[in-house]
Amino acid sequence: MTIWEAMPGNRARVIVMNNALGPLDYRVPHGMQVEPGSIVIAPLGPRQLVGVVWEPERLPTEEVGDNRLRNLIGLVDAPPIPAPLRRLVEWTADYYLSPLPSVLRMCLSSSAALEGSPTIVEYRATGLVPKRMTEQREQALERIGDRQGLVRELAAIADVSDAVIRGLVKVGAIESVLVEADTPYPLPDPNFAPPDLSPDQASVASILRQAVGAETFQPFLLDGVTGSGKTEVYFEAIAAALAAGKQTLVLLPEIALTEPFLTRFTRRFGCEPVAWHSDLRQSQRRRAWRAIASGEAKVAVGARSALFLPYADLGLIVVDEAHETSFKQEEGVHYHARDVAVMRGLFEQAPVVLATATPAIETRHQVQLGRYEELKLPGRYGPADLPHVEAIDMIQEPPERGRWLAPRLVKGMQATLERDEQVLLFLNRRGYAPLTLCRVCGHRLQCPNCTAWMVEHRLLGRLACHHCGHSYPTPRECPECESEDSLAACGPGVERVADEVRELFPDKKVAIVTSDTLWSPQKAAEFVQRMEHGDIDIVVGTQLVTKGYHFPNLTLVGVVDADLGLGGGDLRAAERTFQQICQVSGRAGRGEKPGTVLIQTHCPDADVMKALVTGDSEAFYEAETEQRRDAHAPPFGRYAAIIVSSEDKAAAEDVARRIGKSRPELEEMHVFGPAPAPLAMLRGRHRFRLLVHARRAFDVQDVIREWLGALEWPAKVRVAVDVDPYSFL
Ligand code: ADP
Ligand code: ZN
Ligand code: ZN
Repeated sequence: MTIWEAMPGNRARVIVMNNALGPLDYRVPHGMQVEPGSIVIAPLGPRQLVGVVWEPERLPTEEVGDNRLRNLIGLVDAPPIPAPLRRLVEWTADYYLSPLPSVLRMCLSSSAALEGSPTIVEYRATGLVPKRMTEQREQALERIGDRQGLVRELAAIADVSDAVIRGLVKVGAIESVLVEADTPYPLPDPNFAPPDLSPDQASVASILRQAVGAETFQPFLLDGVTGSGKTEVYFEAIAAALAAGKQTLVLLPEIALTEPFLTRFTRRFGCEPVAWHSDLRQSQRRRAWRAIASGEAKVAVGARSALFLPYADLGLIVVDEAHETSFKQEEGVHYHARDVAVMRGLFEQAPVVLATATPAIETRHQVQLGRYEELKLPGRYGPADLPHVEAIDMIQEPPERGRWLAPRLVKGMQATLERDEQVLLFLNRRGYAPLTLCRVCGHRLQCPNCTAWMVEHRLLGRLACHHCGHSYPTPRECPECESEDSLAACGPGVERVADEVRELFPDKKVAIVTSDTLWSPQKAAEFVQRMEHGDIDIVVGTQLVTKGYHFPNLTLVGVVDADLGLGGGDLRAAERTFQQICQVSGRAGRGEKPGTVLIQTHCPDADVMKALVTGDSEAFYEAETEQRRDAHAPPFGRYAAIIVSSEDKAAAEDVARRIGKSRPELEEMHVFGPAPAPLAMLRGRHRFRLLVHARRAFDVQDVIREWLGALEWPAKVRVAVDVDPYSFL
């Protein structure tokens, strides 16, 4: 049954881009043709809104009489949102308890693209010989031949003035043609530079190629140690998709990784893929969106927002560094791009490859259940071995007073630098010091908008809040007791470690790599070049340098504070620490020279530290998994957080308490709270949390929908639901 049988009388049911509204019915005016997925302009009161036509039977709503229907205003010149993406939008809205328009907005993420493809006027010869032929006209027609271009371009080719060309247009010897302003993207060539795969790589690649050829949904965990050639292997799957004329989406956890990816992709396929990230100019977004929607762009790479683009014919999805928690979106629709990518694969009937050296426990569990197929690459490619890892016990071997690097690490650095090799020091803390306090009165400098300390950024001479961005010049006197020069920096950030390194090795070149210094793909490219040319000896960086990069001359990795991520009571703290340190360790010794990793820790006996040193990840994962099972934590149980926030503390608290009071009494589900969130204030809003804990198979969403649906709260209070939360702040 087509929907037009279900929707007689030239009606269309439309999701308009307004979260407060359900689906609305409109009349399709004479001469306009719409189908499910058509992007339309719909009137709403005096305004015009973008909307998407939907199958009415999937969106039941109150029927409106024909006489009250308003006409749709226009049809956007873009392909309809394809059915698999419409199903994904429904699933995402349902699973993450979000309004349909919020999810749909992620699909229509370029407003310029909806205005149509811009056109320009070009000119070409018609073959007509002008009655009055001059020397210049003859020269022009001869040189232009069958070329096409702007008047200015043709004049340049022919070496005549613009006026000559215009004259030829007037007499009909040259005509105008309307062409699209966006030039097509080059087509990646699957046979441009295929590698010689090792036997392990070849067998994994052939399974992936087959899966692409099968054109059905199949999720894979591509589990291989850092440097084993995971990228090289999933490139083979991309080659298969290209050969079949199908599109591929590659998701990366952050845009800083885009640049090295583009370079590698170009080496393998002869041209760049289409990049999609927040740094694109409006015209680039428009061009990319339209090429993805038309199917012309064959390979797109981007951060999580690329997941909701309207691919015309998706044949493969790759999620690289699939364990990364940055795939979880923490604002607006709280979705996890890894999980939604798998659902998209299901709706598109395409294989999904989750590539990682340190799979998430949730992903390993899917393998154990037999839902995902595991493909393993056990060793590094070529002569490179995995690095040698040692822990430095910071109680037994402490650094000198006021310093952060233990003697053994300093010695290791010295030896490495003497061999003209490179060092990476990893500390996941931007700025100079995480806390500034007054030595006289003990006052601690706190953000006025958040429950957070102000972080000193000495390079900028400012204090900044890492939660809301509030910043001001570092004061000379204590804002509390007004003592002069009494403020002291406590604890290290990367800038402070870099200072120590410069003092220790004054003639070595030190680079700080954080989101403050590497904020664009351009900057990332510069960094890679400087590393490759040996213009940097020592990198001090945050998690931004822990993955993706391949620097053969980098042989020593020092982890400045391995305990940093362990506090805080987050259920994934140990797992995350393990993943992060494995990743950063994976930067060491990727070429022919062996690598070493030195981990500074106060708890060398913790399971996670022992696993890192022995390399026995299996034992660590098993112990972690058992703990999760005992606690009914994910993946064995599920959580959902309800976050109530408002600038008015009493209002937020009141709503949180009312939500708590009306909690459903169910055996399968337990509700904790409400309680003030650990981040009790964020961006000026007071926050209260409730945590729902339930069995895996229990439909928490349905219960929460009904529970919250029965309540009302003032507009100044925001209630957000975070299904499968990763942040417990
Ligand atoms: P991973 O993604 O698992 O960390 P990569 O795909 O980045 O591993 O491979 C590590 C390095 O080894 C890269 O420089 C890559 O080009 C190289 N490499 C891997 N496999 C091959 C191969 N079959 N032929 C040539 N070089 C390879
Ligand atoms: Zn003071
Ligand atoms: Zn703040």
